[in-house]
Amino acid sequence: MYAYFGGKSNICDFFVYAISMKRISRKKFIRNSGLGLLAGSSLISACKPEAKANKRIAAPNIITEKKYRWRMVTTWPPNFPVLGEVCNMLAEKLHILSNGRLELKVYGGGELVPPLESFEAVMSGAAEMYNGCSYYWAGKVKAAQFFASIPFGMNAQQMHAWIMNGGGYPLWRELYAELGLVPFIAGNTGVQMGGWFNKEINSASDLKGLKMRLPGLGGKVLEKAGGAAVLVSGGELYTSMERGVIDATEWIGPYHDYLMGLHKIAKYYYSPGWHEPGSVLETVVNKAKYDALPPDLQMMIEDASHSLSMWCFHEFEAKNNEYLNKIRAESDAEFRKFPPEVLNVLKQKTTEVLDEIITNDPKSAKIYASFQKFAKDVGAWSEYSEKAYYQI
Ligand code: CA
Repeated sequence: MYAYFGGKSNICDFFVYAISMKRISRKKFIRNSGLGLLAGSSLISACKPEAKANKRIAAPNIITEKKYRWRMVTTWPPNFPVLGEVCNMLAEKLHILSNGRLELKVYGGGELVPPLESFEAVMSGAAEMYNGCSYYWAGKVKAAQFFASIPFGMNAQQMHAWIMNGGGYPLWRELYAELGLVPFIAGNTGVQMGGWFNKEINSASDLKGLKMRLPGLGGKVLEKAGGAAVLVSGGELYTSMERGVIDATEWIGPYHDYLMGLHKIAKYYYSPGWHEPGSVLETVVNKAKYDALPPDLQMMIEDASHSLSMWCFHEFEAKNNEYLNKIRAESDAEFRKFPPEVLNVLKQKTTEVLDEIITNDPKSAKIYASFQKFAKDVGAWSEYSEKAYYQI
């Protein structure tokens, strides 16, 4: 029980109202209002002075003053650029929108629970919300990754169109509801970079034996193409590259890659990020906690998440072009594009990886069918819109 009544006067007003109206017994009232967790006698005695001094009967709508103090865990380091910032902004926005009725305390990864235990923490109710990316949970719920990004899948604009307006949200909500969770779009990285390499990739044969930090489905695809996907945490990326433990790594895009210093230790900066063409970030709420909120607070969470989702995506766009220029100006890294032959092989291997997933997991099959249909249709439209425009 994390809900609480904020001020003593609110508690007392509510008590005076409830008892004077004689609509409910004191015992039943305490049980229903959740105040049973507070010491009943000390609560009553704390109320007495005001109760005696103030004979007015509080308005019934005093219940709307109920306040909620929630904990949000995240998969990001504390205050991590863009992704952590957006969590802090969500807390501030909800504070203002709700006039202090819904307060979020944001915990960076590891501050309350380890980053990759955020999912379980919110499922169990140990925290009310988390912010992360759904492909982190693919080991627990395979179908979750279709709501983040899959190799050669849709870009940010298309993913958001699918989720918000193309049938994605009902499927996402259905999948998460079974786990006691409610998901919201919280942002997008946009198309990521292909990564930093100390080996040239001129043909598909250069992928063979390539040791690359490439998590998720991208890593599985690389392995099918003969490479080795190496698991390296963000904190060990720099030294792993510097010492030659790995030949290549992807991270996010110019902004975060620059902050990580990868331009100082790698020879080539490849694009595009075929493995993450538009990773959707998620804010996820414990369903029981969400369902217990008044409708206006529920709407505030949805609206705040969606508006900050735009901020997040725009911030990536704004910062990536700024830091792309810094990398160009401050390093000798060569910018390369993957040859079409390499991309074709990776695309073919992606189909094999996805086929294995949907063959073995009916939930993934159902969600991927919707994903794939939307991707095909929106792709046809993009031929005449975005793609045609970029070719000017
Ligand atoms: Ca990445």
